[in-house]
Amino acid sequence: MVTVAVAAILIGMPVEPAWAAKRSRAAPWDDLFRHLSPRERGGPRPTARRAAAPVLPVPLPKPRPSEAPSAERDKPDKEQLASPPNGKPDQQAVPAPPPTPQPSACRLALTDQVAIAPSIPDIKGADGCGGEDLVRLEAIVLPDKRRVSVKPAAILRCTMASALAEWIRSDIAPLAERLGSSISDLDNFDSFECRGRNRIVGARLSEHGRANALDVRAFKFADGSLISLTDRTVPRGLRESVLHSACKRFSTVLGPGSDWYHEDHIHLDLMERRGNYRICQWDVWDPLPQKAPLLPAERPDEAPPREVVAKPGDAKSDAKSGAKSDAKSDAELDAEKSNAEKTEEAEPPREEKPAKKKRRQNRRS
Ligand SMILES: [Zn+2]
Repeated sequence: MVTVAVAAILIGMPVEPAWAAKRSRAAPWDDLFRHLSPRERGGPRPTARRAAAPVLPVPLPKPRPSEAPSAERDKPDKEQLASPPNGKPDQQAVPAPPPTPQPSACRLALTDQVAIAPSIPDIKGADGCGGEDLVRLEAIVLPDKRRVSVKPAAILRCTMASALAEWIRSDIAPLAERLGSSISDLDNFDSFECRGRNRIVGARLSEHGRANALDVRAFKFADGSLISLTDRTVPRGLRESVLHSACKRFSTVLGPGSDWYHEDHIHLDLMERRGNYRICQWDVWDPLPQKAPLLPAERPDEAPPREVVAKPGDAKSDAKSGAKSDAKSDAELDAEKSNAEKTEEAEPPREEKPAKKKRRQNRRS
């Protein structure tokens, strides 16, 4: 009987479905299967599955518990992550950011190799005051990398700053070298300022109000010397060189002699006029004389009367015969003049001709 029972068990085991053995023994491929389908790893399912294992060949997914988070709620969350809802993201997309203005050709050319001139925001003031493409010109970089500081830094349009930089680099720096020095500072007397011309209220807007002008008062050299452009004691040739170079580069140059507003500085701007009309008004004055011409000193009271010092010849004549002696002297002078004229007339011009001929003959010889 025992053998029959063992045989019956041995024969019955293969008859048992293969999936039942897998469930009970947890075969290695079961883990692989669980990995691929996480939903099959639900807590209560294995026990329930084991209870119904012999009956159901293919397990069906268990209905989702009511307390579990609904799939419909999860979907909107996922959609929010994937695509922006109709809230803030859409509002941010509506006001498109303003296109960043492309740098001007001037801005591209005004590199750190030419000048230290960072860009600043546009200025839009009243009555047309302000400008675009502005820079703060802090220094000009010379070709040998030395810097010329602009003190204080000037607010200028890029085009004006560029013209100023080229003027210093190409004209003023070589001029300083010829003098055995080098320029180190530019004395900025005034750059951007919303005001009328010559600071007159109600006058036309100055180029200073358009950031298109600079007032230069002086250059400072590396040796510490200061060259004031309107100083009469500065060598005239140096000031004239500055004048000619400035008038070639700027459309307006105003200095001493133009009006009494520019007696102590030089005004430079790039104002555009009809027909490219230019103004170059700068009188390079000669230095004043070291000593002003002396005025006649006031005659002291103790000084002798003027008649005494009139003529040395009159001292010989007496006071009584003074008038007669003067008349005589006049007559004598007339006689001398007439004699001189006679002698000139008496001299025959023919006598000079032979002499000239002789000289010529001598020269030829
Ligand atoms: Zn000015």
